Amino acid sequence: MPITKILNKVGPSTSSGTSLTKEEIKLLLAAEGDDKKLLFDKALQTKLAHLDNYVHLRGLIEYSNICTKSCLYCGVRSKNPNFTRYQLSDEEVIECAKLAHELGYGSVALQSGERSDKDFTDKITHLVKEIKKIDNGSLGITLSLGEQTEETYRRWFEAGAHRYLLRIEASNEDLYYKIHPRDEKHNFQTRLNCIDTLLKLGYQTGTGVMVGLPFQTLDDLADDLLFFKQKDVAMVGMGPFIPHPDTPLWQYKDQISSAEERMELTLKMIAILRLMMPEINMVAATANQTVDPMGREKAIAVGANVIMPNLTPNEFRENYLIYPDKACVKDKPDQCQTCLDVRLAAIGHKVLYNAWGDSVAFTKKHAPKTTCV
Ligand code: SAM
Repeated sequence: MPITKILNKVGPSTSSGTSLTKEEIKLLLAAEGDDKKLLFDKALQTKLAHLDNYVHLRGLIEYSNICTKSCLYCGVRSKNPNFTRYQLSDEEVIECAKLAHELGYGSVALQSGERSDKDFTDKITHLVKEIKKIDNGSLGITLSLGEQTEETYRRWFEAGAHRYLLRIEASNEDLYYKIHPRDEKHNFQTRLNCIDTLLKLGYQTGTGVMVGLPFQTLDDLADDLLFFKQKDVAMVGMGPFIPHPDTPLWQYKDQISSAEERMELTLKMIAILRLMMPEINMVAATANQTVDPMGREKAIAVGANVIMPNLTPNEFRENYLIYPDKACVKDKPDQCQTCLDVRLAAIGHKVLYNAWGDSVAFTKKHAPKTTCV
């Protein structure tokens, strides 16, 4: 089927987006040349029609690299002894959050290696409450702290966090177990259940995958997009897989596609999802910028609408290397802001400062229903 025929299905602007079949998604994922340009143009038009040219910021606080898991792709996995483990102090976290507020970011995202012990979960509850005290709750809070019990997720929600990002990493169970150890700590069903719990509790729930993993096929990627749609999530984060030398998946580095190809495939994933889910928030992940200096702008130009500038104190950043050569590790926050404004203006976009930047898809779905009398 010609790509133009598939893209012609994309109607003027229904909030629920275009229904694409798996075959159609696979054809779009394989698009090249003029076809790929048509896809990217359509995705940008769709985003501008639904969300305008605004980019929302989440000041990223990489709270700790202490992790109890051993994901086969991740540099901070518990079995990597080659770097120093850290956890920010309460004061450092609050300083980062205050800085986000001063810079007008509107929201922070607290991310960490995965722990679920009581000290950790209590500490997060405390930190969320403290961040909420800044200027009377003016900062939105996204958490990305891995798999937790329903009770923990509820406590954090009640403390004031309202968005949660938990990538499924691979919606195909077989692939999931090729990139995670098969043991009680890494369980596909548990991860799925966590996403369902977050949705049920009322979080703006985000998920996502890495693109270009060893063993991953276009079938898998098409299924990932259908999975996001089926779960009706409010946010998605997708970025290219970047092999890390201290991880088991490094051994496949010569069998995966080039960094440029993984980047292009990521852009196609973002563009196609924008057609399918026009009003969700989509992150232009730092991994994009790591494989391509213009990677975040490219992601924004094909449908992403969120950027997470790093606010972690510089001395800790090089120990939060989930993948090597991570972008912006040496940047200072004020440099980062000027750089972002200029880079986004160059592609016709602008930051919406001092706003939470919630997912329009979520807000509409949960808006109180008015009845006509
Ligand atoms: N532990 C939390 C969790 O599991 O959701 C949050 C932190 S985790 C380090 C953040 C994300 O980094 C993961 O969801 C994964 O997709 C991404 N990531 C880890 N290693 C990566 C790699 N080698 N290349 C690209 N992305 C990677």
